[in-house]
Amino acid sequence: MSEEKILNNTKDAERPLVELTHVEKHFGDLHVLKDINLKVTKGEVLVVVGPSGSGKSTMCRTINRLETIDSGDIRIDGKPLPQEGKELANLRAEVGMVFQSFNLFANKTILENVTLAPMRVRHMDKKEAEDLAMDLLARVGVDSQANKMPSQLSGGQQQRVAIARALAMQPKVMLFDEPTSALDPEMVNEVLDVMIELAHEGMTMICITHEMGFARRAADRIVFMADGEILEEASPDEFFDHPKTDRAKDFLSKIL
Ligand code: ADP
Ligand code: MG
Repeated sequence: MSEEKILNNTKDAERPLVELTHVEKHFGDLHVLKDINLKVTKGEVLVVVGPSGSGKSTMCRTINRLETIDSGDIRIDGKPLPQEGKELANLRAEVGMVFQSFNLFANKTILENVTLAPMRVRHMDKKEAEDLAMDLLARVGVDSQANKMPSQLSGGQQQRVAIARALAMQPKVMLFDEPTSALDPEMVNEVLDVMIELAHEGMTMICITHEMGFARRAADRIVFMADGEILEEASPDEFFDHPKTDRAKDFLSKIL
């Protein structure tokens, strides 16, 4: 192996899967992301917490370019975010996203919801896409609902389908933006359990959540945001037991 190749391989091993460097974002006069620097390595579960309006969702949305940034740099697996076209579609396929609202296609069956993107973007044939979809639906425990319409499922079931749909694209990283906050309380755990399983299987995950039990159990690292800034970055035990900033202490006193 050439010296250059060895060097590159070393770099690969150390290279973060998601890297934000000096990211800045305004909405008009509102400075919503202030010098955000963040690295997520392969297999890591990062949980992002912080008060409402602190820029968590915006940060998450910049990672698959649902939001543009003013300046700074975002890389997935070492590659800068493409601006448009086919490359952008491919990037979005690599970055799975699950939102607070379930976002399933209302006029398609559960199975069709999961097969659509693999057929269109990955050019899988129908049979292959359906086999994959059924495997994933079984993994999240809703395979018996495959031929129903989204409106026939509970919120917790719909959210599990949304996770299966994202996984069908074989993403490198999964982003979760408060995936349980629109659910009735009795359905929260069925979704968190699926997320915990994914984490155990080694999926790289960035999760915005107010579920502090989940954060403690599943997170490798906690990032605390307030007013567009990352104020703390720590292990779950360190963050929950010994928050450093007054903002984090105040936040935790309200939420725990
Ligand atoms: P969080 O997810 O932490 O609650 P957000 O990222 O949703 O915070 O929002 C951060 C700030 O940016 C808030 O003040 C919000 O009102 C504002 N904001 C979010 N999206 C937009 C937008 N598309 N246009 C203008 N302001 C926005
Ligand atoms: Mg949000």
